[in-house]
Amino acid sequence: MENEEKKLPKIMLTGDRPTGRLHIGHYVGSLRNRVELQNTGDFDEMYIMIADTQALTDNAGNVQKVRDNVVEVALDYLACGIDPSKVTIFVQSRIPELPEFTCYFMDLVTLSRLERNPTVKAELQMREFGESIPTGFLTYPISQAADILMFGASIVPAGEDQAPMIEQAQEIAHKFNSLYGEVFVEPKIQLPTLEAARRLPGTDGKAKMSKSLNNAIYLSDDAKTVSQKVMTMFTDPTHLQVSDPGHTKDNPVFIYLDAFCKDEHFAKFLPEYPNLDALKAHYERGGLGDVTVKKFLANVLNDTLEPIRQRRKELENDIEGVYKILEEGSKKAEAKAASIALRARRKMGIDYFENHKLIEKQQKAYKKAHEQEAALAAYLAKNKK
Ligand code: ATP
Ligand code: MG
Repeated sequence: MENEEKKLPKIMLTGDRPTGRLHIGHYVGSLRNRVELQNTGDFDEMYIMIADTQALTDNAGNVQKVRDNVVEVALDYLACGIDPSKVTIFVQSRIPELPEFTCYFMDLVTLSRLERNPTVKAELQMREFGESIPTGFLTYPISQAADILMFGASIVPAGEDQAPMIEQAQEIAHKFNSLYGEVFVEPKIQLPTLEAARRLPGTDGKAKMSKSLNNAIYLSDDAKTVSQKVMTMFTDPTHLQVSDPGHTKDNPVFIYLDAFCKDEHFAKFLPEYPNLDALKAHYERGGLGDVTVKKFLANVLNDTLEPIRQRRKELENDIEGVYKILEEGSKKAEAKAASIALRARRKMGIDYFENHKLIEKQQKAYKKAHEQEAALAAYLAKNKK
C-alpha cells in the first residue's frame, strides 16, 4: 500500500472563472503561487482550468461575456509566466467526463450540505437571486469537486474563499471511495503564505476584490489607471488629518502593501523608510499622509505589473496561438480525465462494454439458468409419461 502511494504522481490543479480579466487579488491569491510551483519542478503534472461551465452557472443569459473572457484569462496566465510546456491549460467545457462525474457525485451530496456552504451563501446574497437560484449555481461546488478529482489533484493553490469547495471535494472523494473502492485522491488547498494575500479586499474596502464587484485593479490596467484607482482607494476613515494617528490593520492600502511590497521598493521609490514596518509605525504615530502612502503603493503595483503588461501586449498579437495552446491543453486534459473516469466507472460497476468479467459472469449465469430450465423441462416431460 505504501509503495503504491509513493508511486502516485504529484498533481496540482487550479483554475479561474472567465468572467473578466484577472486582477491583483488573483495574482497574490493564486497566480503568483502557481508560477513558483511551476518553476520549482516539484509536480509531475500541473493543470490550470478556465472554468467556463462554472461561469455559466450565474451567466446563462450572458454567454458572450464568458466566451470573450476565455482568451482574456489565458492571456493573463501566459503574461504572468505560466509556461504551457510545463502546465496544461484547458477549458472546462471541453472535458465531457466532468459533467458525467458531476452527475454521479450529485448523488453523494445532500441539498442541505450544499446550502451550508459559506462561500456559496455569500455569493448568492451578492448576486441577489432571491427565490430564483439557478440549480447549476447552487450545485457548482459538486462540479468543482469533479474538476479536481478527475485529475487526481492533491494540491489546489487558491484563495481563502475556496476552502469550503476543497472541503466539499474531500468529502465527495471520501464518500465515493468508501462506497465503491479507492479511486479519488482527497485534495488539499494551498493558501498563500502571506495572510494579506488570502483574500485581498477590493479598492472600495469590501471584503473581497472580485471581477463581479467592480472593485478590482486588473493585471492589464495601464499605469495611469492603476494610479487613479489607488488614489480613490478606501483607507482609514479615522485618519482625517495628516497629523492624526492612523490604523494600518484593516486598511486596504496597507493590506495591498503587505501583499506586494518588498524592501527594494523602498530603496527605489521611498528611500526615507527602510521597510514596511517603519512606514506603518509612522502612519500609526501620525504625521504621514494617505497621499504619500498611496503614491508609493501605485509605484509598487506598477513596478510589479509592468513586465506582465509588456508580455501581455506581445501575446495579444497572436490570439490564434493562444487558442491553439488551449485546444492542445484541453486534448491532453481530456485524456487524463478519461483514464481516471475509466477506473471510477469500473469500481462503480457501470463499465458495461469494457467489463469482460461482468459479461462472462452474466453469460455464465444465463447459461446455468437455461440448463436448469432445460433439466426441469426434461424431468417434467419424463414424469408426465
Ligand atoms: P467571480 O466574481 O466571477 O467569482 P473572482 O474574482 O471571485 O470572480 P474566481 O475566478 O472566482 O475570481 O477565483 C479564481 C481564484 O482566485 C480562486 O483561487 C480564488 O480564491 C482566487 N481569488 C479571487 N479573488 C481573490 C481575492 N480577492 N484575494 C485572493 N484570492 C482571490
Ligand atoms: Mg469567485
